[in-house]
Amino acid sequence: MSKFFKPKSLFTDSFPEKSGNEVNGWGETEQRQATPFFWHPPERQSHGKLQKVVTDYHHQSPAVGKYFSPTPPGGRGPKPIDQAAQVAERTAADWTARVKEFSLAHEADLVGITAMDDKYVYETYSISEPWVIILGVTMDYAELSQAPPSFDNPTAAISVAKEYNRAARACRELANYILSQGYYAKAWQGPYASALNMLPAAIEAGLGELGKHGSLINREHGSSFRLSAVTTNVPLQTDQPDEFGADDFCTRCQACVRACPPRAIHNEKQMVRGVKKWFVDFDKCIPYFGEALGCAACIAVCPWSRPGNSNRLIARLNKKSD
Ligand code: SF4
Ligand code: SF4
Repeated sequence: MSKFFKPKSLFTDSFPEKSGNEVNGWGETEQRQATPFFWHPPERQSHGKLQKVVTDYHHQSPAVGKYFSPTPPGGRGPKPIDQAAQVAERTAADWTARVKEFSLAHEADLVGITAMDDKYVYETYSISEPWVIILGVTMDYAELSQAPPSFDNPTAAISVAKEYNRAARACRELANYILSQGYYAKAWQGPYASALNMLPAAIEAGLGELGKHGSLINREHGSSFRLSAVTTNVPLQTDQPDEFGADDFCTRCQACVRACPPRAIHNEKQMVRGVKKWFVDFDKCIPYFGEALGCAACIAVCPWSRPGNSNRLIARLNKKSD
């Protein structure tokens, strides 16, 4: 652990013997599905005790606990309705336009579609729906930029929780819309995880590139957004990955590496489950994440997250490639 940060024993004592990086497949050269991990139900993963210690600690802030409760201000969205008996027949192009229009009119700021693939499903689970609709909700940068939060100033943590709740409402509204049209749809919302591994699906659906800090970078909103999703069998057309240069930019930027108090962010890509990619050391990150109410310092300092900055960065990348 870094000399800059000494983790609390409250968190380190709750680690299981197995390293989180090992569970995540750091150093593995064969491709495989991700293992259910930290945000999964405790009985399905190795780090359930640590999850409880971290979330209980966060709930010691009444303001944060209120927004992470099952009944937060603004709610988490409607319960699922019954699937209509009558199927509304339309083309895939028509459904795609309607699904996107509905999403953007019901709290989502970003929407992309990809075909289901085993790599979007955690080990030991299965999903049978053929399509994944990924929704993004943007964060208030003025709030996010106050990260890392603390008990004295939990603004950024409340902001994260608020946007998870908005993302939950957006996906539940969309799932109910699709169910009302006679197709099956299931909503997936965070921060707790289940079968769907949203991040690789979001990259494929065009929401952004993976950044050095382990989160997505969207061309317009940087890393200042949260995800939710709907899996469904309504006929849809897929989007394409959006490679606008963020990966290349990360090779020369170190803002998140320097901003991370426990020095958890690798400056070079690592081999993870058979793919070379940016990787955050879970075992170093999580004690600080626990103590700093969810931290998020790395996404707050990312230059792509600053509103209005992306055009300048893309222009700089284009100039470099001329
Ligand atoms: S969340 Fe905080 S501790 Fe974790 S990688 Fe980001 S800056 Fe580092
Ligand atoms: S802060 Fe820099 S290195 Fe880190 S993810 Fe953002 S652009 Fe990449």
